[in-house]
Amino acid sequence: MTEGNRRAVYADHAATTPTHPDVLEKMMPYYSVIFGNPSSLYELSNASQQAIGEARKNVAKALGALPEEIFFTSGGTESDNWAIKGVAYANIERGNHIITSQIEHHAVLHTCEYLEEHGFLVTYLPVDRYGRVSPADVETAITDKTTLITIMTANNEIGTIQPIREIGEIARRHNVYFHTDAVQAIGAVPIDVVSMNVDLLSLSGHKFYGPKGIGALFIKNGVNIDSFHHGGSQERKRRAGTENVPGIVGLGKAIEMATNDIESRNRHLRRLQSRLIERLLSIPHTILNGHPSERLPNNVNVIFEYIEGESIILLLDNYGIYASTGSACASASVDPSHVLLACGLPQEIAHGSLRLTLGEENTDDDVDYLLEVIPIVVEQLRSMSPLAAK
Ligand code: PLP
Repeated sequence: MTEGNRRAVYADHAATTPTHPDVLEKMMPYYSVIFGNPSSLYELSNASQQAIGEARKNVAKALGALPEEIFFTSGGTESDNWAIKGVAYANIERGNHIITSQIEHHAVLHTCEYLEEHGFLVTYLPVDRYGRVSPADVETAITDKTTLITIMTANNEIGTIQPIREIGEIARRHNVYFHTDAVQAIGAVPIDVVSMNVDLLSLSGHKFYGPKGIGALFIKNGVNIDSFHHGGSQERKRRAGTENVPGIVGLGKAIEMATNDIESRNRHLRRLQSRLIERLLSIPHTILNGHPSERLPNNVNVIFEYIEGESIILLLDNYGIYASTGSACASASVDPSHVLLACGLPQEIAHGSLRLTLGEENTDDDVDYLLEVIPIVVEQLRSMSPLAAK
């Protein structure tokens, strides 16, 4: 990638991805010629309705679900909020206890904290040093008041993939609903909601080359869940509001592309990932965060001891390298990452992480450039750091 005549590498795909040109092309007519409100009765609207139906089928197919189990939302945050609050309130007669983990995205954690302020009890399970939740801990935490377990499929900061199938099996055995935030996993981890015993699943278009502001929630048939958008009868009266037709069409196309041939894309990403990890770990006092093997194929998260993650990001920006210290939502604050703290890293070290998340368009040349620049930047910052061993 070039910007003007400078070299640039976008390595922040966990924050967002560019909308794929084929996705954009598919969306465009729905902004102009096929603009009918899907709820209207004339021909122009039928085309919008049909397009939504096609997209719903694509999303369902990608998850191993039925089209009637897919509900379009404004993105991952709304899907997480709907799943967690919706199940919590609808099942209040059965119990008021929810189980989650300490390393969830804030869309889950802050929703759980909100519920705690409204009379619910939440267990925040610890993780091991690689960021894995133990299925045995999940089972031990279940009480006769537990109505929901919500554990993410893969972590947005360190890329660790959770034992979702095992957790789903436990949830089913104990008759507790199981929600998973799969926002980072779509297109990287094959998903089958039936064999994974998942009752609710959140996803978001802009994480897999779809547009921003569109997502979906899978709600298994028969799940008892409240709705929060009241108004028209869209989404089978469960999520009112005129549909974002171009966004839905884009999501449908993007998920089809993302889940088609996961294997060969992952092979490419894993090769680039291995090159990066191997070389970066050869820099002294560098630690790999996340699981060595159970991790997303595009995620590299390392700590360079004695320097601040924020300073690395700013210097890399001067070289046209776009990376992150953690999740985009947390990057404006200087608080250490809650994910790294939960993995047991001390406060002062948890400040210094660099997250590189690659995309299918990244090349070996991009990795060469990253590996040329990052050691220079680390060296430069360490030479100024009073903490670095001289
Ligand atoms: N969940 C996870 C794991 C995420 O990484 C994100 C976005 O970073 C979200 C939820 C929120 O998704 P959205 O940006 O679509 O609201």
